[in-house]
Amino acid sequence: MSKDGMDAYAVGDAVSVLRSIKNLSVTCDVPMAELTRFRAGGCADILVQPHTVESAIELIRVVRTSGLPLTVIGCASNILVSDRGIRGVTCRLYPSLNAIRQDGNSLFCQAGALLCDVAAYAARRSLGGVEFAAGIPGTVGGAVFMNAGAFDGSMSDVVWKTTFIDGFGNIGEIAGNEHDFGYRHSYFICSPDAVILETELRLEHRDLSLIYEKMSENAHRRYNTQPLDAYSAGSAFRRPEGYYAGKLISDAGMKGYRRKNAGVSAKHAGFIVNHGEATAEEIAQVFRDVRKAVYDMKGVILTPEVRPVGEWDDDPFAFER
Ligand SMILES: Cc1cc2nc3c(=O)[nH]c(=O)nc-3n(C[C@H](O)[C@H](O)[C@H](O)COP(=O)(O)OP(=O)(O)OC[C@H]3O[C@@H](n4cnc5c(N)ncnc54)[C@H](O)[C@@H]3O)c2cc1C
Repeated sequence: MSKDGMDAYAVGDAVSVLRSIKNLSVTCDVPMAELTRFRAGGCADILVQPHTVESAIELIRVVRTSGLPLTVIGCASNILVSDRGIRGVTCRLYPSLNAIRQDGNSLFCQAGALLCDVAAYAARRSLGGVEFAAGIPGTVGGAVFMNAGAFDGSMSDVVWKTTFIDGFGNIGEIAGNEHDFGYRHSYFICSPDAVILETELRLEHRDLSLIYEKMSENAHRRYNTQPLDAYSAGSAFRRPEGYYAGKLISDAGMKGYRRKNAGVSAKHAGFIVNHGEATAEEIAQVFRDVRKAVYDMKGVILTPEVRPVGEWDDDPFAFER
């Protein structure tokens, strides 16, 4: 839906009703570039931030009855927001719904909790299993959605139960295999109406020194190989079967490639970066250039891991063969 095509009254009415919900922050025309790891993209028409589960439920019900589109984000470390922005309501769960509590070997983590905080909280209690997540700059909600993973672990190893708000504003719950986890895949990718609220992680007691050793080993590996000081969304592409995306991109001569203000990292070819002032379209263009170069060289079609969000005409990463 374009901004012009959207009913101004529907937007105005929705804003008034949303503003009447307790414990909900509502802001209009919010520049998303400042809130995303890519530092690019236009404005969100209406950005809401629930501070309680009750306000999150109420807001979802209001949005669903208003007919406005809803976009849910965590800390925006895996998305590319269109330069034209995001129509309707954007619900940002980070940093408000961020509680973590322990019950035995389980951690109950609200969707807005940062993975680094979860890993640190677990470590302090000698609970192992989430060391892999310490350096992933996302929230629990985004990580469950994506089945985020690194090195030798992924969310699918530790997630037991997830509570969410369904498309009708009711609370739902899934456990174990119902998460349908696969490589960067979960039940929630196929249920875009669901808003993840909380996840139970089942961890195991581990020697504190081993946990810290693992976390520091992972941090060093990341620091040595990834452009952590650049604006990016992490690995731009999924790992194609039988290959490594970074190696394919390097072999295609695209490591360090630059077009206008965006390019491919010279440190890790799997990362597409904003050199400072790039538009979302310039970043998307680099995705297309890289995909084409790799396809022309090897016939392999790289699948983006980054998710386009907001008002795009077509798939911004689609390239011409
Ligand atoms: C430097 C860097 C390194 C990275 N390293 C890794 C890595 O090693 N492994 C890895 O897997 N990823 C990595 N990433 C990518 C990213 O951090 C993860 O995918 C992370 O889990 C995304 O979480 P987020 O909160 O930022 O989600 P967002 O980017 O905000 O959203 C991602 C998707 O999840 C959905 N979503 C978010 N929260 C919810 C919710 N509560 N309910 C429903 N849907 C939701 C959004 O709609 C969107 O489709 C890296 C990114 C960067 C910038």
